[in-house]
Amino acid sequence: MQQQTTIVVQQPPAYTQMDTGGYMVVPPVPLFGESPMTVVCGNCGNKVTTTIVPENGTCAHLCAFMMYFIFLPCVCYPLCSGSCKDYNHYCSNCNAKLGTYRRM
Ligand SMILES: [Zn+2]
Repeated sequence: MQQQTTIVVQQPPAYTQMDTGGYMVVPPVPLFGESPMTVVCGNCGNKVTTTIVPENGTCAHLCAFMMYFIFLPCVCYPLCSGSCKDYNHYCSNCNAKLGTYRRM
């Protein structure tokens, strides 16, 4: 006579409905500025000081466009000076992009 084996399938735990009314709770995102900041990297988990890389964003292009009509020789000024640039913040440990400071 064969012995019967019983296979027990475990059900995954049922997810309880969120009691926040359907809104997701998002952890606070650090506000990046024009200078390097000390943050906890979401990629490597280390507390690092960010490395900033300036980039021509919407503000720089818009200023250059306006300079074209106001005073043509100054059209390159917004693209070359740092006063209109956006700043990308990168992790100094793993080089992951952590955020961007945008002027517009
Ligand atoms: Zn990192």
